[in-house]
Amino acid sequence: MGKQEDFVLRALEERDVRFVRLWFTDVLGSLKSVAIAPAELEGAFSEGIGFDGSAIEGFARVYEADMLAKPDPSTFQILPWRGEGPATARMFCDIVMPDGSPSYADPRFVLKRTLSKAAEAGFTFYTHPEVEFYLFKDTPEPGAEPVPVDRSGYFDHTAQSMGSDFRREAITMLEAMGISVEFSHHEGGPGQQEIDLRYADALSTADNIMTFRTVVREVALSQGIWATFMPKPFTTHPGSGMHTHVSLFEGDRNAFFAAGSEYQLSTVGRQFIAGVLRHASEITVVTNQWVNSYKRLMWGGEAPSYICWGHNNRSAMIRVPMYKPNKGQSTRMELRTIDSACNPYLSFAVILAAGLKGIEEGYELPREAEDDVWSLTERERKSLGIDPLPKSLYDAIQVAESSELLAETLGEHVYDFFLRNKRKEWEEYRIQVSTFERDLMLPVL
Ligand code: GLU
Ligand code: MG
Ligand code: MG
Repeated sequence: MGKQEDFVLRALEERDVRFVRLWFTDVLGSLKSVAIAPAELEGAFSEGIGFDGSAIEGFARVYEADMLAKPDPSTFQILPWRGEGPATARMFCDIVMPDGSPSYADPRFVLKRTLSKAAEAGFTFYTHPEVEFYLFKDTPEPGAEPVPVDRSGYFDHTAQSMGSDFRREAITMLEAMGISVEFSHHEGGPGQQEIDLRYADALSTADNIMTFRTVVREVALSQGIWATFMPKPFTTHPGSGMHTHVSLFEGDRNAFFAAGSEYQLSTVGRQFIAGVLRHASEITVVTNQWVNSYKRLMWGGEAPSYICWGHNNRSAMIRVPMYKPNKGQSTRMELRTIDSACNPYLSFAVILAAGLKGIEEGYELPREAEDDVWSLTERERKSLGIDPLPKSLYDAIQVAESSELLAETLGEHVYDFFLRNKRKEWEEYRIQVSTFERDLMLPVL
């Protein structure tokens, strides 16, 4: 038993923990949980806890159904909303096969595998997500339009606003679980909130996002309201993005930084951005994985629809944000496509893979987009070489089907399952008759 395992076993006694929840994430980004008694934990650390993988979407083919969840002791935390004495704790798990090898279906492993590829090239990958979500007055009812908790807008400070009480409570709970919050405010839509997590290595951030979603939902329920990370819950209000700031570090030096160059961007930084741009259409199916995701991307507002980058250009897919002169550590790119309902492990893996490809192949960064790209005509965009992002889940699947980068990064199992699942979602969606069609046609036809 290692030091961290010993620490966890001691903490169980000291904190009077009665239940330990083992958490992992399925291919589509849903959190899974199995609770064990503290007495089982030693065994879980050494061998893992067995479960039937075929019961979980995307996890196993029938012939390899038995899997083991092995807790990662560095992720041990008490769940603050479950109360103290007796307490409930959680740990994220790695999923392994009965022979001890990693499960190819485990999104956490997909990210770890890509992170080791970066490590071979000397890089650590850092991410910082800005998570947007909506708060509704009630639990959603089938067929009913949800009612937001307020009518406020961007950065509004509302007296006794539901949102600010909610954010205070959620942030207190996140901090109690060791997740630092950098920034929080009301977003553009009624009832829409944003909470930004602090920069950390991508594996910790992905774990933190899974915890974040759980905490936000729990706090909402405890206040009698409902939180959703759905990318575009309303036709006429902005969607919920999860803009993610990323950079590579070499040791404690930011590899995106070069003093004196344009926007302080190093060659590595420029090539990384070029990689994400060149492979943008291929990875969109992962960063924006739902039929509904494309309603956000195609709506305008501040969500991007075109493949381009810019400095402080909010219409661009990638923004190189403001920087403080000679404060190299904060040089980064902000990816604005990714939404709040993605699987963060798979998304970070494909973003990193695209960026690393740019570095390996020495891609040239195209010219930055200086204009608001929505105000340009189709012809102007064409002449500037600005292509559109996939316009629907269908388009995104089409591109993904011939993407080597995606197949390689996700691995055969996840790639096949993921695309099969997405094709099914599209097939189910495209035969739906909507309110839009009825309202358009019934009065006149
Ligand atoms: N809600 C917008 C989106 O869908 C982003 C607003 C902002 O710039 O923070 O991406
Ligand atoms: Mg925002
Ligand atoms: Mg942003």
